[in-house]
Amino acid sequence: MNMLIFIIAGLLVHCVFLASIFDIYFTSPLVHGMTPQRTPLPPPAKRLVLFVADGLRADTLYELDDNGTPQAPYLRNIIEYKGSWGVSHTHVPTESRPGHVALIAGFYEDVSAVAKGWKENPVEFDSVFNESKYTWSWGSPDILPMFAKGASGDHVYTYCYTAEKEDFGAQDATKLDTWVFDHVKNFFQAARSNQTLFSKVNEEKVVLFLHLLGIDTNGHAHRPNSREYKDNIRKVDEGINDIVSMLEDFYGNDGKTAFILTSDHGMTDWGSHGAGHPSETLTPLIAWGAGVNYPQKVTFQFFEDEFLKEWKLEKWKRLDVNQADIAPLMASLIGVPFPLNSVGILPLDYLNNSAHFKAESMFTNAVQILEQFKIKMTQKKETTLSFLFTPFHSQMLRRTDVTTLYCHHNLSSLCMHRLRLLSDTEQINILRKARSYIHQEKYHEAVSLCKTLISLALEGLSYYHTYDRLFLGISVVMGFVGWTSYVILLIVKTHTSLTRSTHDKASTVLLLYGFAAIGVLIAFFLLIQTCPWTYYIYCLLPVPVWYAVVKEFRVIQDLASLLLVFPLGQSIGFLVAGALGIEILVFSFFYRSTLTVGLIAFAGWPLITRLWAQAKVTTLCWTLLCLLLAMFPLMPVVGREPNISLVTVAGLVILLISSFFLACLCKSKNKYVPKKDLTILLFQMLSIALSTYVVNSTHSSLHHKQGLPVINQIISWTTLASSLFVPLLSPTFFFQRLLSILLSLMSPYLLLSTGYEALFPLVLSGLMFSWIYMEKEALQHYDDSLKPKLAVLNFSYTTDITQFRQLHLDDIRRSFFFVFFIVTAFFGTGNIASVNSFDPASIYCFLTVFNPFIMGSLLVWKIVIPFVLVSCAFEAVQVTTQLSSKSLFLIVLVISDLMALHFFFLVKDYGSWLDIGTSISHYVLVMVFTIFIMLLSGLAQLLTTKRIELWGRTKRHSM
Ligand SMILES: [Zn+2]
Ligand SMILES: [Zn+2]
Repeated sequence: MNMLIFIIAGLLVHCVFLASIFDIYFTSPLVHGMTPQRTPLPPPAKRLVLFVADGLRADTLYELDDNGTPQAPYLRNIIEYKGSWGVSHTHVPTESRPGHVALIAGFYEDVSAVAKGWKENPVEFDSVFNESKYTWSWGSPDILPMFAKGASGDHVYTYCYTAEKEDFGAQDATKLDTWVFDHVKNFFQAARSNQTLFSKVNEEKVVLFLHLLGIDTNGHAHRPNSREYKDNIRKVDEGINDIVSMLEDFYGNDGKTAFILTSDHGMTDWGSHGAGHPSETLTPLIAWGAGVNYPQKVTFQFFEDEFLKEWKLEKWKRLDVNQADIAPLMASLIGVPFPLNSVGILPLDYLNNSAHFKAESMFTNAVQILEQFKIKMTQKKETTLSFLFTPFHSQMLRRTDVTTLYCHHNLSSLCMHRLRLLSDTEQINILRKARSYIHQEKYHEAVSLCKTLISLALEGLSYYHTYDRLFLGISVVMGFVGWTSYVILLIVKTHTSLTRSTHDKASTVLLLYGFAAIGVLIAFFLLIQTCPWTYYIYCLLPVPVWYAVVKEFRVIQDLASLLLVFPLGQSIGFLVAGALGIEILVFSFFYRSTLTVGLIAFAGWPLITRLWAQAKVTTLCWTLLCLLLAMFPLMPVVGREPNISLVTVAGLVILLISSFFLACLCKSKNKYVPKKDLTILLFQMLSIALSTYVVNSTHSSLHHKQGLPVINQIISWTTLASSLFVPLLSPTFFFQRLLSILLSLMSPYLLLSTGYEALFPLVLSGLMFSWIYMEKEALQHYDDSLKPKLAVLNFSYTTDITQFRQLHLDDIRRSFFFVFFIVTAFFGTGNIASVNSFDPASIYCFLTVFNPFIMGSLLVWKIVIPFVLVSCAFEAVQVTTQLSSKSLFLIVLVISDLMALHFFFLVKDYGSWLDIGTSISHYVLVMVFTIFIMLLSGLAQLLTTKRIELWGRTKRHSM
C-alpha cells in the first residue's frame, strides 16, 4: 500500500476516533424551545446586587486569623446578624467562564465548550441578566461581554477596564477591585443628575453585577496564603460595605434591595484553579437584604467536613447549595423568569417569604425543568424507530419510594411504575396534584412533590442526553479494533519474511460486494432514524476498515499457522509481557509512580537478557541512570516549591560535562577538529552560564519587587531563539551533534525552570546516551554480523542506508522503550495533562504581563524539550540498528492505538468532575500522540542530519 494513502487514511481514522468522544460523551445538554416560567406572586426585591469575588476560597473568607479576628469583618457581621450563608459547590472545570455561567445562567457548561475555548458563546443561552429589565455590570473584559452578547435586546450594560490592566507581575491587583467600586459610585452619582438614567435604575427587576478580579489575580501571583490575597479580601469587604451603604442611601432605605456575594471558583494553595480539589470547588455564598432569611441559630448541625469548627460558625445555620442553584435564587428574589436552561433547584432555606410564595416558586421551578425534559424526550422519540425506543425509567426511585410517594400523596392507585416512567399523563397528574395542594394551602406537601418531580426530570434529562451512547460506542470500538488489526497485518506483510501469499481475485471481488451491501444496509438504517450526519461516519467507518482486514485473510492464515507452531509457553509469555507493558503505560497516566516501577524493570533488563556479561560498564551506567530517573516520578509535581538553587546546580553540572567533553576534544590529536566546532561549543557553554545567571537574577529581582530587568528579558528571548538553529552548525557526528542539541535545548529549559525539574532533561539525556550504547550491544548480542562503530557513525549517512533489515521481535521492545521514554518525558516532572501544573513563576524570565498565548507557547516549548531529546536519541538508535523508521513507526502506532482503546473505555462523564476532565485529556493525548510522534521524528531528523555552513565551504571529510 502506498505510504501516503496510508498516512492520510490513518489521520482520517484517528480524527474520527478523536471527534467521536465529543459526540458520544460530551454533547451540549441544552435544548431550545421552552417557554419562560415565572412565579405569579410579587417578588420581595426590586433590585439585586451580585458581587462575584473571582477566585475567592470559602475557607479563606470564613476563617478567623491568628488573633481571632475575621478576614472580612463586614461580611462576618452579615452572617451573624443580617443574612444567610453557606458553601456553594462548583463543578469542574473550576474556571471563570463555566463558574459564571452556572451562577448566572444556572447550568453547568458542558465540555464541548472547552473545544470552543470558552471565549465566545458556544451555544445560545438564557441568563438572569437576560431576563432582567436592566443589568449594569462592572469588571473584567473576559467575563462581562459574554452575558451582554447572549442577551436579547439592549438592556445589559457593561463597563470593563482594559486587558492591559491585568498585569500580575509587579502592580497592585487590588486596583482592579477599587476600579469597580469607584465606577459604581460614579455611576450612581451620575444617575442623580441624569433623569433618564435615574428612572431606569429605579425600575423593578434591576441587576447590578460587580465582578471583582483582584483576589484571583493576587492568588495567582502570590498564592492564597499570602498577605496580598488576604489584604485584597479586606479591601473587597470594605468596598462592599461602601457600596451597600451608598445604595441604601441612594434608594432611601426602601428595603427593596437584595445582595448576594459569592465567587466563581476557589483556588489551590499553590495558586491555580481548574481541577476538582475542595479548595477549588468550595466557594462562599452570603445573601442578605430584601427577601433573604435572617441568620438561623442552631444548636447542632452536621457536615462531613470539619470547617464549621474551624470557622467558629457552628451556631449559625450553614445552607449549602450547588452553584447553579444561585441562578433560580436570584430570579426568584427579583421576580424574573428562571433562565430557560437552568438546572438549579431553588434553595428555599435562603428565602424569607410566605410558605405560599415558596410553594409557588418551587412549582415554577418544577415546571421549568420539566419543560426541558419534555423537549428532550420529544427530540429523541422523533429520531428513533418506534419499536427501538426505550423510554426513560427512573433508576433512582426505588419501589418503596414510589409506594410511600403514592400513599403519602394519595396520587392514584394505577400501576406504580408510571411515575418512574414520568410519562406525559403522569407529569400532568403530579402537577395537578401539586397545584391542588397549593389551593388547599398544603404548601409543605406541594414543595416535596415538586422536589420529587424535579429530581425525576433531571434524571430523565441525563438519560435522554446519553441515549445513543452504547450504540455509538460499539461502532467506534469496532473501528478501533479493525484499524489496529489492519496495522498489525501490514507490519507482518511488508516488514517481515513471515508470509508470501498472493491475492485470490475472485474472492476479493465477492468480499467487496459483501461489505458494500453491509454499508448500504447500515446507511439505510440510519436514514430512517434521521440520525445526525456524524453518526453515519461513526457507523460506516468500520466497514471499509474491516474490509481491508478481511481482504488479507491469507496473511491471517499464515500468521495463525505460524503462531500454532510457536511454543505455547513462549507466546503466552510474550503476550503477558506486552499486556503488562501497555498497562504500565496506561497506569502511568493516573499514577506517575507507575513509571518508577517501569524504570526499575528497565534497570533489570540487561540482567535478564545477559547483556551485562557482554558490556559491564555500559550496563552499569544504564542501570544507574534508570534508577536515577526513577526518582523523578516520585517527586511532587513541579512548581509547588520553587527552588532556584537546584536550577543553578543543573546549570553547573552541564557546564562541567561540556568542559570535560571540550577537554577530550582538544586532547584527541589523531582527529582533526575544526576551530569553528570549538567556537560553537564554547558559545553554547557561555549560553548555559548566562541562562543560569539570568534565572537567579530574575527571581531575586522579582522577590524584591523590582520587576523584570530588561537585559534579562533580552538575553532570555535571544537564547530561546538561538536554541533551535545553533545545533545545526555543529558536525553531524553522533555524539558531537547529540551533545550540541542537549546544550542548546538546556539553556531555554533552565530559563523556564523553577526547581528540581531542571535536572530532569540532564538525567534523561544521560540515560538516552547509554540507551544508544545498549542497543548497539543488543544488536551484537543477537546478530554478530552487525557491528556498528558508534564513534564514527554520522547522522548524515542515514540516507545512504538503502537496505533496511527485516523486523525482529526485539524491535517491538525498541519501539516500546521509545514510547515509554516519551511517556516518561511527559509525566516525569509533573502531570502535564492537569491544569494545575501551570505555574506562572516558570515564565517570569520572559514576561510578567498576563498574555495567555505567549505564556502557553512558552510552557508548551518547555514540555516539548524532553521529547525532542528522546526523539533525537531514538533517531540515533534507528541509525545504529539499521531499522527503517517506517516499520518502527507502525509498531509505535499499534502501541499507542492499544492505549487509546483503553482510554476510550475510561472516558467518564460521571463521578467527580476532576476524573472527567483528566479522562478526556488522557484520551486526547493518546490520540494526538501518534501525530505528535510523527512531527517529533521529523524535527529530530532535521536537528540531527542537517548542517548549516556559516563560514563558507570547508572540506567534508565524510563524503
Ligand atoms: Zn475566575
Ligand atoms: Zn484565575
